[in-house]
Amino acid sequence: MEYVSGQIWTPHGFQEGHIGFKDGVIEEVGRGRAKGNIAEGIILPTLINAHTHIIDYVVPVDMGMSLAEVVAPPHGLKYRKLAQTSPLKQRKTASYLSEYMLRKGISSFSDFREGSVEGVGILSSAKGARPFIMGKTREPRFDRDEVHELLNVADGIGPSSLSDWDYEELRELSKMVHSRGKTFAMHCSERVREDLDKVLDLKPDYLIHMCRATDEDLEVCAQEGVPIVVCPRSNMFFGLPTPLSRMIEAGVVISLGTDNAMISLPDMFVEMEFAGRLLRSQGIKRLDCVISMSVCNGRKIINESPLIEFDPGMPCDFMVIQGHDGDPVTDVVLRTAGLDPLMVCVGRERR
Ligand SMILES: [Zn+2]
Repeated sequence: MEYVSGQIWTPHGFQEGHIGFKDGVIEEVGRGRAKGNIAEGIILPTLINAHTHIIDYVVPVDMGMSLAEVVAPPHGLKYRKLAQTSPLKQRKTASYLSEYMLRKGISSFSDFREGSVEGVGILSSAKGARPFIMGKTREPRFDRDEVHELLNVADGIGPSSLSDWDYEELRELSKMVHSRGKTFAMHCSERVREDLDKVLDLKPDYLIHMCRATDEDLEVCAQEGVPIVVCPRSNMFFGLPTPLSRMIEAGVVISLGTDNAMISLPDMFVEMEFAGRLLRSQGIKRLDCVISMSVCNGRKIINESPLIEFDPGMPCDFMVIQGHDGDPVTDVVLRTAGLDPLMVCVGRERR
């Protein structure tokens, strides 16, 4: 058996202890430090990157362009560039960034993937962090056969936004996705406020961004139990607000994602640090919530149980990061970005 020791994250705070594991399974969890540890520091469950477009990494960023000019379908820079990029290059990009994410302690990421069935295939072949793939139809139109095929290979479908679609076709799409037991999610109120009643009538499993949401919109999301994924670095790049503290006050379940990879590398510790600093600037002092967003709430987005507690018999799904003998929350949120974890262990995979 091998051991790691240090400050172990629990849903009730950090506790000094150790984890013993063998063949990809946790065998022992106890108080106090073990002898002969292979790593010592802060022990965290792996992180979930709740929203990415990782193949966008191939798109060169033009700083002079607006959000719409870069990412609006069908003629935005990203769509033109993706159409010119060979499947082989896209596959290599997917592999490179999936491996990058696993090394950074991310076990799974939810990716909005263009290119219908073929696009999903490019992503699903990658090794490293596990993709939860939100496919997208070739055009913003409901084609029953295409959607059927797409749902055979994807974990869900993520149309870009309400404004790109005919509403009745979007309704057909969401009905079919739900009837197959898959995930339906959308970008919402990113650049401009969108009609939340219309969006919620589509029964989304979660929404992304909500930069322009009113307090009432956020309260409705909280009451209806619709989580929101926020991507503060991406928002800031495009000059958009991230109403994080208002979301917390409204009681919204918040997850974090890194969004388009040409703008923000998919490193969750960097996103967490950014979110932490943003929250401090918005008057929230404690940053425990930032860890919950990435550890617990992210798991809801990929249909996993958010209740993570290390117990014997569980598959390994943890990492050890450098501690600094202070408040572990501060060490995780503000002092880890830029460093690799000391070790990451997901099942038998080790980095
Ligand atoms: Zn997005």
